[in-house]
Amino acid sequence: MDSGINELFEGVTTTRGDSKIVLPPSSFAEAQIAFMESDRLRQDLEGLASASLSDKTPSFPAIRRAAEMHGKNLYKVLEEKIRRDHEGSLHLLEGDPVISEGFSGGGIFYIGVKRRGDERKERHRQVTLMLDDVGNIVEFACQCPTYLKNIAKSNYGKMLGASPSAGDGTRGPQLRGRASNGWSDLSGFPVFSVGVACYHVAVALTHTAKKGRFSVPFKIGTGEAIETLLMDKLGKKKEATIDDYLLTQGAITEETRQRISDGEMTLEVIKHMKNIDGRVQEIIRRIRERRQQDGYSFGGFATDFRGTKYKTTAIVLTRPDGRSAHLVHDYKLGIGLPLVMLKVPPSVWVGNLGKEPVTIEMPENPLQSFGRYVTCFDERTQREVVAIITRPEREILKPAEIAAYDRLLPRQPTLPQLPR
Ligand SMILES: [Zn+2]
Repeated sequence: MDSGINELFEGVTTTRGDSKIVLPPSSFAEAQIAFMESDRLRQDLEGLASASLSDKTPSFPAIRRAAEMHGKNLYKVLEEKIRRDHEGSLHLLEGDPVISEGFSGGGIFYIGVKRRGDERKERHRQVTLMLDDVGNIVEFACQCPTYLKNIAKSNYGKMLGASPSAGDGTRGPQLRGRASNGWSDLSGFPVFSVGVACYHVAVALTHTAKKGRFSVPFKIGTGEAIETLLMDKLGKKKEATIDDYLLTQGAITEETRQRISDGEMTLEVIKHMKNIDGRVQEIIRRIRERRQQDGYSFGGFATDFRGTKYKTTAIVLTRPDGRSAHLVHDYKLGIGLPLVMLKVPPSVWVGNLGKEPVTIEMPENPLQSFGRYVTCFDERTQREVVAIITRPEREILKPAEIAAYDRLLPRQPTLPQLPR
């Protein structure tokens, strides 16, 4: 059974206060397809398909699989699948997805995006986009069901039946088209108001970028974009899988990578929790409270161990000095109990804490470095960090929980104490 933290999207994230804007590369790859002329798309797909058949190690496994299965009918099959997903329509393949554009001053754009489905059923989508003077996104909104559903999903506390931790308790779930703030989930984490860029928002942003008013944070090759189209339409892969593929292929531009590593943005996961039992929720709550005493606060969710079979989504607590504590809970690691991974930027490790540099790298199986300091790449901040994976402190656990940890992991008297 699926259990643990289930990722829905992963993307470049800007956090302001308790609201987040997330740009998943999967949305931008589909927008890129929408801007292509169908003849060009067909030619490129057929070229990539025949090349991948003669490749020993195909760069595009979904294209290769589809070429093997469907041969010369591949484009036709793709059209059928797109019709199946979009009310019998092929608008996605027609090029020119933007049908109107307005600007009201104050950095607000209104961009009409053609629906991928039958236009007789519902009108085109009106995307509202607010940018600041230098082209940073202040806010966006789309009225499509996907956009609204993603908000509901990312508002995982509501899904778990949590109640507002602040406010009057009567606010509806939508606030200017965004999830309302002031909620907390069962482990007591605050719930951010999250805007995830859907396909329409990605089209509007790509269009705005073509006019030089915005810079798309991704550079996605045509081959990669077509690969993701097949992953979606033929392979039925979920968005988070497509995001992971694109991020692994290096879809983030150098400029954006720099902004992430400068701390302006992060790479975060939008997720919901599935089948997490009450005992685990309770341990996570106590770990969070303990870390809060050390100056950490909830920062969102991020990918750890990318590119390995242990890839997982962690709950992230951050400190203003750049240290973070990732709460890892995933049966893939072979342990059904939450673990703590402390991460320290080298500048803090050597500079503020006066420690010797660490040179041992984290092994493929992260638990092989359990209890030892190693170096690893932090996906969320796109930086090398010093990291250690440990159990929660004994003093926050009940005797039965300590016994459960003891059965699974080496005994460990306490979390290594680092100066504050
Ligand atoms: Zn939308």
